[in-house]
Amino acid sequence: MAELRSEGLARTLGAENKGFKLLQQMGYRAGEGLGKDSSGRSDPLSLVLKPGRTGLGVDEAHKRKDLATEQQKADRALKRSRGEAVLKQSFQQQQAAQFAARRVDSHVRQAREACEAWEDLPAAEKLNKLLSHLRLRHHHCLFCGAQYKDAEELAALCPGEDEDAH
Ligand SMILES: [Zn+2]
Repeated sequence: MAELRSEGLARTLGAENKGFKLLQQMGYRAGEGLGKDSSGRSDPLSLVLKPGRTGLGVDEAHKRKDLATEQQKADRALKRSRGEAVLKQSFQQQQAAQFAARRVDSHVRQAREACEAWEDLPAAEKLNKLLSHLRLRHHHCLFCGAQYKDAEELAALCPGEDEDAH
């Protein structure tokens, strides 16, 4: 960049240059000096750029700008990864909720089938199953009309499983 600039400044104006054409229209001839009697300078003023405090300041400003850009990039990356984490979590929660819902649906279907199977049983069989359940689980005899403390007490005090024994 700096090289291009010093190259450009060192060059004399060519015929293709707009400013040069304008000067020609005003009566200037190439190689002549400027001014009423053509005694002025014939080349453009050269410009010497000194690297100094201004240059350092510009560098500092660029460094700060770069740092700020890096910070913004890092912030955006962090926000993006947080956003992804939130999305992932909500997706997992949705998946878990759907899984739980399907599980409940499946249990409801199984329970309904069990109920239908129960409804299809002959009454005598239903009664036997209920009596067995009451005796085994609750130590209860329908015909004694009593619930015993445990299986031993039921066996000792109840005359038998069927109605005739009572
Ligand atoms: Zn009994």
